[in-house]
Amino acid sequence: MSNRQDDGEPQERPAPRTGRRDFLKSSAVVAAGAGLFAAGDAEARAGDQPPKDSGSRGRRYVIRGGAVMSMDQNVGDFEVADVLVEGSKIVEIRPDIRAAGAGVIDARGRIVLPGFVDTHHHLFETAERAFLANGLLRDDHSGSPSSYPNYGEHILQGFAKVYRPEDVYINSLFAGLSQLDTGVTTVLDVSQIHHSPEHTDAAIQALVDTGRRSAFGFFEGDGRAAARYPQDAYRIRDTWFSSNDQLVSMVMGGELHLGEQVYTRAWAIARELDLMIAAHSVGSWGMRLVLDDLAQGKSGVRVGPDNLFIHMTGMSDQTWQRLRDAGAQVSLAFPIEMTMRHGTPPILKMQELGMEPSLSSDVETTMAADPFTLMRSAMTMQRMLVNQMILDQGDLVPPNNWPTPAPGTPALLTVRDMLRYATINGAKHLGLDGKTGTLTPGKEADIVILDATALNVAPLNSVPGAVVSLMDRTNVETVIVAGKVRKWNGRLLDANLDRLRRKLETSRDYLFKAMGLRQDLFAWS
Ligand SMILES: [Zn+2]
Repeated sequence: MSNRQDDGEPQERPAPRTGRRDFLKSSAVVAAGAGLFAAGDAEARAGDQPPKDSGSRGRRYVIRGGAVMSMDQNVGDFEVADVLVEGSKIVEIRPDIRAAGAGVIDARGRIVLPGFVDTHHHLFETAERAFLANGLLRDDHSGSPSSYPNYGEHILQGFAKVYRPEDVYINSLFAGLSQLDTGVTTVLDVSQIHHSPEHTDAAIQALVDTGRRSAFGFFEGDGRAAARYPQDAYRIRDTWFSSNDQLVSMVMGGELHLGEQVYTRAWAIARELDLMIAAHSVGSWGMRLVLDDLAQGKSGVRVGPDNLFIHMTGMSDQTWQRLRDAGAQVSLAFPIEMTMRHGTPPILKMQELGMEPSLSSDVETTMAADPFTLMRSAMTMQRMLVNQMILDQGDLVPPNNWPTPAPGTPALLTVRDMLRYATINGAKHLGLDGKTGTLTPGKEADIVILDATALNVAPLNSVPGAVVSLMDRTNVETVIVAGKVRKWNGRLLDANLDRLRRKLETSRDYLFKAMGLRQDLFAWS
């Protein structure tokens, strides 16, 4: 029996029993809880370096041990496999590749997927991000916060007119780096800011400096005297695009609302220079009849497989049929079409005709430009329509509250459909499927490595399911373009983002001032 207290010695007190660790020790979860709060693999990986000189000729590295979804039927899917990259290209995909002397990217617990492709993004509008979070395409005179400010008045007829070449450059560069960070390794920049050749050169320089695969879309500017649309295409092609073996390629804008004289010229130049032709087609913008004329061959131009039509909302059945028969492609911007009143994204019409869209982000004035937002919007929108169609085939009370779909009911889109839309379809629609869109030996190494061990994803039960239904930008751990590592362990490389952001803010301040608009963090909502 102790009487130490009487001896005047300090008492040895038992440790308090209220702490978390003591709770774990003293309870039945002791085994399960052991080590849960210790530093682990994440810290160990954070110090890793990317393979040296990645993307350079002859440099080899292996992406080892990831779940590989190639999006190429001939290559297939692997629960665990390695991807060997040499220089800018994929060399081999299979389990247990031996590659003596090659660098290694540890992809255990990761998903390895082709980089995403966005077939319609207006990169120059970054300074006005979220300025039109409620905004419609144009004023509907309702007096609502959605009608004013609006896209037509404030962006196309407003901000766009006051852009200087330096604004075009920093806005486009920042948007491009931001999308690279989300895993979009290829974009069509629908660049409508060509007030002068200097504006054009700034837009292309930004795509080059971003260092991702880009199709520069040469669209019109505001038509001022210094503008050179569409004939500047010859100079642009000679100056910037004399080789096909480069990251940035060229697409011709051929907007039908510019009038027959202009668009027939633009389309003719495009075909002379062997460029694809992209054009908006929006019923609610008044374009249904001009598309009807085009489809019926009354426009002096011919639709072909080199045409990419954007939105295609509100178009006639006859136009759809003829564009399909001509092999034209369609890019859908699901979230933007739904929120800005372009009309219902025509996905059911495309399914009916056996067509598939690529996905596009369109404008960050109104919505995020990451592929996860695009895929989830497309899937939920289509399934809402089809699910309700099926429910309406019953009578919503037992026993007919859960009807079997009638013959001819459109199939529900799946997560695999979404990944196809967001990768290989986009590559095909930009004429780049020989280079990107799938993980295929011989193609360029445009690859994203997605963290499936993350808090919002683990445990991994379905590769396509996890990517489409759970992931977001934070899961995009590593991004590779033409073999070169551009994002590593969650951090974009080779970019001083603080400095770039300050330049963008300076541009934003100038643009708002030139527009006579007050900057107010709560006014434009
Ligand atoms: Zn657009």
